[in-house]
Amino acid sequence: MTRGFSSPAAAGLWQACDTLLLDMDGTLLDLSFDNWFWREAVPRWLARSSGIALADAREQVLAHYALKQGSLDWYCLDYWTGALSLDLRALKEACSHRIRYLPGARDFLGAARAAGKRLVLVTNAHADSLAIKDGVTGLGQSLDVCLSSHTLGLPKEAAAFWPRLQARLGFDPRRTLFVDDSQPVLAAAAAFGLAGVVAISRPDSHLPAKPAGAFMSVEGVAGLLPGPVSAALAPGALAAAASATTTAALATAGPGATGEA
Ligand SMILES: [Mg+2]
Repeated sequence: MTRGFSSPAAAGLWQACDTLLLDMDGTLLDLSFDNWFWREAVPRWLARSSGIALADAREQVLAHYALKQGSLDWYCLDYWTGALSLDLRALKEACSHRIRYLPGARDFLGAARAAGKRLVLVTNAHADSLAIKDGVTGLGQSLDVCLSSHTLGLPKEAAAFWPRLQARLGFDPRRTLFVDDSQPVLAAAAAFGLAGVVAISRPDSHLPAKPAGAFMSVEGVAGLLPGPVSAALAPGALAAAASATTTAALATAGPGATGEA
């Protein structure tokens, strides 16, 4: 991916925010692992352990996922371990070599650290999933704080999650940028009033970019970085972009966006 601001609005956000709240799966790490694990591997293991046809196992699992989508259970390793009678921790460990950073994500973390940003991982993933992924990628070493939403008792999709997160971390919403690949999660963050809310449009490197939703988007986090393009901006352009960004962020926090949550 070409380095540099993907837009003047991205440049403005980078300048205006001192805290970055970053999602894990689909934002820093490749969602291809999770898509494969939950949609391909789990039905296969369930078919084997239950003695049912793979097509039936897949149908059963996908229907159960749909029932729980958006809830904390949907992200909970304990819930699915019990519901499917599969040792998901062991299975995830056994295929953890498939876990990878998204393209440009590792460089992004280094650049953000060098720029003095406070870096916080805010994930809906269960703490055990986070530990497995940290063990493979060393993600935690690049971040100031790693937080699973399970410790706050609510998923990021919930409006009440955000004041709890702010109370825990003590960030200033006017100087905080949040990056995630889920539109309902982004809508909840925008409704809370964060200065910047940015969508990742290509969370799975094996799939094409998703259509733009209600929020400013970049294909990957590297699109938020300053680089050669920024050097071409005229003096004063960043301040103008920051002002334009504030307007854009307010627009994304309106009823059209929050109605998706
Ligand atoms: Mg995600």
